[in-house]
Amino acid sequence: MSNSGKLIIFSAPSGAGKTTLVHHLLGISALNLAFSVSATSRAKRDYETNGKDYFFLSADEFKRKIGNNEFLEWEEVYVNQFYGTLKAEVDLLLSLGKNVIFDIDVEGGLNLKKTYGSKALGVFVMPPSVKHLEERLHARSSETEESLKKRLDKAVAELDYAPQFDKVLINDNLETAKKEAEKLVSEFLGITLG
Ligand code: ADP
Ligand code: 5GP
Repeated sequence: MSNSGKLIIFSAPSGAGKTTLVHHLLGISALNLAFSVSATSRAKRDYETNGKDYFFLSADEFKRKIGNNEFLEWEEVYVNQFYGTLKAEVDLLLSLGKNVIFDIDVEGGLNLKKTYGSKALGVFVMPPSVKHLEERLHARSSETEESLKKRLDKAVAELDYAPQFDKVLINDNLETAKKEAEKLVSEFLGITLG
């Protein structure tokens, strides 16, 4: 089994744009990235696919996996909404010789970084302002008012964690942020992009 792959962790408050940036990076084949599909007990959004965006589980199934020690890290990100990184998923991707990229919340990102040390790059995606975050979450139209407020409250608290990451990437102009993401990741992996 090859374990030479590296880990790229994108963390940020909800709405900062990490999913957008991670999808962009996954489209660059030279980076040899594979997405770590997390498990969650939250409801699937219409545009999401089970097994691709998340493994959607019931809260009971999720708790059973916690009991079986199947997670590298997990969190109750919102009340009764669990999210976690499955050990089996990461081991599989590393065994396939891939670099693994994660889209996870700030605490989960810091926990993974602690576990993997210099094998991992922790990137904090910073929105230009809280106002921008709010507008992006509205524009994404994925949340009810209650869920949006929950995400914004958590987001404001999470901004304080930025300095604990290896890199802070400001996502203001999306094209600029994509280029910056390419640069950070390719440099960390030691890959020259054409
Ligand atoms: P996250 O995964 O961090 O919750 P998303 O990637 O889903 O965030 O982005 C939230 C919304 O903001 C999406 O609708 C996305 O298209 C939009 N978005 C992302 N980056 C930018 C940007 N730089 N400028 C404007 N809108 C953006
Ligand atoms: P959303 O419901 O908007 O998809 O995600 C809510 C938050 O949970 C986001 O900050 C997202 O990055 C985070 N998240 C997704 N997967 C995981 C995971 O496996 N572990 C942790 N700790 N957080 C996750």
